[in-house]
Formats: sequence, C-alpha cells, structure tokens
Amino acid sequence: MIIIMGHGAKEDEIRGVVMRLEEKGFKTHLSQGVERTIIGAIGDKTRLGGMALEALPGVESVVAILQPYKMASRSFKQEDTVIRIGDVEIGGGAVQVMAGPCAVESKEQLFQAAEQVKACGANLLRGGAYKPRTSPYSFQGMAEAGLKLLAEAREKYGLLIVTEVMDSRTLPLVADYADIIQVGTRNMQNFYLLRELGSVDKPILLKRGLSSTIEEWLMSAEYILSSGNPNVILCERGIRTFENYTRNTLDISAVPVVKHLSHLPVIVDPSHGLGKWKFVNPMACSAVAAGADGLLIEVHPNPAEALCDGAQSLTPENFALLMKRLAPVAEAVGRRIG
Ligand code: PEP
Ligand code: MN
Repeated sequence: MIIIMGHGAKEDEIRGVVMRLEEKGFKTHLSQGVERTIIGAIGDKTRLGGMALEALPGVESVVAILQPYKMASRSFKQEDTVIRIGDVEIGGGAVQVMAGPCAVESKEQLFQAAEQVKACGANLLRGGAYKPRTSPYSFQGMAEAGLKLLAEAREKYGLLIVTEVMDSRTLPLVADYADIIQVGTRNMQNFYLLRELGSVDKPILLKRGLSSTIEEWLMSAEYILSSGNPNVILCERGIRTFENYTRNTLDISAVPVVKHLSHLPVIVDPSHGLGKWKFVNPMACSAVAAGADGLLIEVHPNPAEALCDGAQSLTPENFALLMKRLAPVAEAVGRRIG
C-alpha cells in the first residue's frame, strides 16, 4: 500500500508513520516529490491489526496498490523518473540515443563507431564486452579487454558507456567501467543478479525478456528498485510471436502502456526488435512518436564483417540519416534529441 502524506506534513510526522509501519514488520520506501511525500509500505496488511493509518498525524490517505509491483508503479511515484549522468538526462523530455556495435571487436572498430556516433549527435556509446550468444561457438566478446577499450573511447570522444553484465561474478568489473549497466533479455528474470544490481551505484538498463509480459518486466524492475537502486531504465527490444519475417515483434505499444503504469524511463531497441537494418529507421521514428525516452541502435563501421548482429547493424551513413530523420519526429511530439 502507499501512504500519501498531506501537503504540509512535517518531518517528524513522516518519521512517525515510517516507525509505526516498521514496528509492524513493513519494509518502507520514501518518495519525496516536489508536491508531497509518499511512503510505500510492503508487508503483510493483516499485521496492522486494527491500526488506522489514516488517523496518524500528517497522513492524507492510504491507497492499496493492486498491481504486484509497487515501487515501479505510477501510484507510488507520480512524476517521471529522470536519471542524470553528468549533463545527460534520461527520462527528462530529451530523447537519448545509445548507439554502437553489438560487440566490441577491436580498438579500430570501436573508435570508428564512437567517432560516428558522436559526430551524429548521440551522447551514449553502447557496445558489449560480454555477449550472450545462442551458440557456444559464436564470438563471446572481448571481456575485460573490451571494457578497457570502452573506457578509452569514453575519454577520447566524451561519450557515456552502456555495456552488458551477464553474471554476478563479473558485475564488480562491469560496474567499474560502465556508466549504464545493461541487463539483456535473457537475464531479465535472473532474480539473483537483479537483487545484486540493487546495491550498485550505476543506472540499470533492463531489457524486456523475449517472452515476457509487461507485468513480468515491471516485476523484474521491482527487484532492482526494492533492493536499493532507484535508477532503472526499461528497454523494449521485441518479443517472440508467431511472426518470423522479423527477428522479433517490436511492441511499440509497450511504450505508452509502461508510461501509464510506471514512472520509469522507457527506451526502444529497434535493432534487436526487427533484426534487419532496413527496418530500423522507420521503427526508431515510430518509437519516438510513441513517446520513448531514448533509442538503442546498433551501428557498425562495416556491418558485413561484424562478429555479431551484422544484419541489423546500421552503417555510419545510415545512422547519420536516422539521426537527421529523428529530429523532426521528436520535435513533432514536443521533444528533442539528446
Ligand atoms: C544486445 O543488446 O546486443 C543484446 C544481446 O540484446 P538482447 O539482450 O535484447 O538480445
Ligand atoms: Mn546485438
């Protein structure tokens, strides 16, 4: 349930409510908005006995949350969550583009991609050092050497780094290098890892599981939020359907739906959603028109030679074209790129 404190609620009244709830065995989370304070309480309601929370000083109302996720819900936090990293904001009205190769393959490849991504106006460079591949015989990523190259590219081009973590063993290392830690679709329900991400001091980009409902996706976000990390960015990357012309079915409708249900920023990855570079640009424009807070786009200096996901990667030229096309679309829905 959530306890909405009155406009003028005093600090000691807020502390008093938190104390009473904790005495009854509830876990509490405070959301201090500009307008008012909201206390999220997670626990067994029957333990309240006859206690009327509404009667405590400073309390305006008590609302039961019907969704199974609480901290991720709009009822818990009405204002959009804005994640700030340096002077880059995610969720604050700008559309942030995260672009780069699926996998870091070499210094030359990564730096060429980074140079282009920067020149086209994106603020974030994305590349995998640990790759979740369907086949154990496929390229698995450069591991720490890849992270080091990403860090060098960050210095040289002034870009923020987004990279994937695959397990808890490598989490401390990835967290050291990354500005945003990506959780891939296959790990969306790795609950142990999600809990660990709760104590990391970096924003988490949580991709939607390949066969997950929106509710399951938000429950995964709830694991991270309830473990202590409030900075979660959701990423729609396509789901499995009966359609097999495209790699997945990009669920653009998830953008307005998640924005209705949750305060968390939502971005869209049309590269994995479609699996074919030709369709990336129109779907990226659709995502922005639908209200996405950002995009994740695979860009490779030479897609034909890519070690991973070449078929869906944009050439630098096509990426430049996309960035040009996006600007008026963003403007039409009252936003700007970057
Ligand atoms: C990726 O971003 O390169 C990736 C592997 O994505 P997903 O987890 O969505 O398949
Ligand atoms: Mn990829």
